[in-house]
Amino acid sequence: MWTTDFLNLFFPNLCQACDEPLVKHENILCLSCLYKLPKTNFHMHENNPISRIFWGRANIHAATSFLFFNKGGSVQKLIHQFKYKSKIETGRYLGELLGKDLLQSDLFNTIDVIIPVPLHKKKLHTRGFNQSDIIAEGIGKTMHVPAIMDTLIRTEFTETQTKKARYTRWENVKGKFGIQNPQTIEGKHILLVDDVLTTGATLEACAQTLLEVPNTKVSLATLAYAQV
Ligand SMILES: [Zn+2]
Repeated sequence: MWTTDFLNLFFPNLCQACDEPLVKHENILCLSCLYKLPKTNFHMHENNPISRIFWGRANIHAATSFLFFNKGGSVQKLIHQFKYKSKIETGRYLGELLGKDLLQSDLFNTIDVIIPVPLHKKKLHTRGFNQSDIIAEGIGKTMHVPAIMDTLIRTEFTETQTKKARYTRWENVKGKFGIQNPQTIEGKHILLVDDVLTTGATLEACAQTLLEVPNTKVSLATLAYAQV
């Protein structure tokens, strides 16, 4: 449209990774940054570094992270913009890309519902949105699967959780999640979604909670994987 081109001349849309002006048909990322995304491609392999994190901890069907969290690189920047600068479109877009990849995998293409990891109420209040909800919406859009936000809930707030070691953290998150309306997920293949995977303690606790509902199968996917 003429008006859009005209406006872009003065207020160009910038690539969220490299800040170069986007050209026609580019959205969120320029083509160069899109092709350079450090994809893990773990979704194509049952046995991968993400699924191994959960061995002996939770009975996960399949697990993957979309991108490597390259410190100081494009993924860190994109996730920072999304979470702390409220660039919600960026998060949804990355979720859509992840959903496209998951559809190509026999491990994930039987997903029935998507469930985001719920955010602490206090954090939700400060940030104004749950980043995992946005990613879940993006994945759901490309996979044509509903994202359900009110089934898995947090039952308690834990303080300074990120500063603690893995085992302390597990104690901390244990019993902190609950299920509402279990009939919405009974007998379903659930995709549990979070933004960045580190120790997996929160995802493990969420998966355990979901698996308490009869006949559920739980897989998980995160936008990025930060090796610890
Ligand atoms: Zn770019």
